[in-house]
Amino acid sequence: ASSSSPKMVKAIRVHELGGPEVLKWEDVDIGEPNEGQIRVRNKAIGLNFIDVYFRKGVYKASSFPFTPGMEAVGVVTAVGPGLTGRQVGDLVAYAGQPMGSYAEEQILPANKVVPVPSSVDPVVAASVLLKGMTAQFLLRRCFKVEPGHTILVHAAAGGVGSLLCQWANVLGATVIGTVSTKEKAAQAKEDGCHHVILYTEEDFVARVNELTSGNGVEVVYDSVGKDTFQGSLECLKLRGYMVSFGQSSGTPDPVPLSALAPKSLFLTRPTLMQYVVTRDELLEAAGEVFANIASGVLKVRVNHTYPLSEAAQAHADIESRKTSGSVVLVP
Ligand code: NDP
Repeated sequence: ASSSSPKMVKAIRVHELGGPEVLKWEDVDIGEPNEGQIRVRNKAIGLNFIDVYFRKGVYKASSFPFTPGMEAVGVVTAVGPGLTGRQVGDLVAYAGQPMGSYAEEQILPANKVVPVPSSVDPVVAASVLLKGMTAQFLLRRCFKVEPGHTILVHAAAGGVGSLLCQWANVLGATVIGTVSTKEKAAQAKEDGCHHVILYTEEDFVARVNELTSGNGVEVVYDSVGKDTFQGSLECLKLRGYMVSFGQSSGTPDPVPLSALAPKSLFLTRPTLMQYVVTRDELLEAAGEVFANIASGVLKVRVNHTYPLSEAAQAHADIESRKTSGSVVLVP
């Protein structure tokens, strides 16, 4: 087949920014893979909060219409001319750029996919690669969590939050988590949160202060953003690390440098993409995630599964805080 021959698949497309209703189920021509590319038939697609940001325009898509989605597992159905190292039939996973996983099949750069070990279920792999590599870089590289540290994880029952709590617990930290409901609190406890705060009912700053005898925590992993950012700074101990890695509640207000001075705080705003730049970084991060699943260190909670054609419902549910753990779309 040449790169000009059509290949029609069903996919979700966004023609204009907006609410979940702008996610349209359409026929799309994805064509054949060019040099360096493969085509993958997706078995399971991971939903991530970042998909909501692109749909709403919090992050900007490079062109319209676009197919959202940054995480999937599937089987290789075609390889580009001259490509070696990948074969039709290989089971592969991918996480990150380029967007386009909300589709029955998609074209991907061959160097962006990783093999899925036979010990890991494909649906689990699709629901954990992006979130797990995020937990990996946050806990092991952005700030290094060590035994004896006390850490604060917001949205502790979410997709990334569940993995952060489990992994930080195994690293020997005392884990404080925030959640919005009692059900989510029970899940966070099971995931190794030593203390869970219902931040919808309690003042989390006062509670962290109490739990740490006024000392504060070494690091805050804050993906909630607008609603928690200021309080998170107040929870930090002297020379603590503020890791602001998302904005589920909205973009935080600008922070004057002077806000960091009273406690000589560190502030970083990391993204996974800058932590898996090289092929080696990608293989190492993915390898560590899959090894932790195989050994039972990480338990992946696939709490919600939707048909891909109903992605709009999945978006509505994650945005209204109805979901916990990982959300998967099945073509
Ligand atoms: P989650 O499953 O964590 O869903 C978001 C959660 O945020 C909700 O369940 C809810 O938990 C909490 N939340 C608090 N306030 C709001 C609000 N106003 N609206 C909606 N949710 C709210 O999603 P993901 O695991 O996919 O992602 C978690 C976060 O991590 C996101 O902000 C995402 O952008 C970020 N992220 C960043 C990456 C990076 O590289 N920087 C990579 C991956 C994820 P509760 O009900 O308990 O409050």
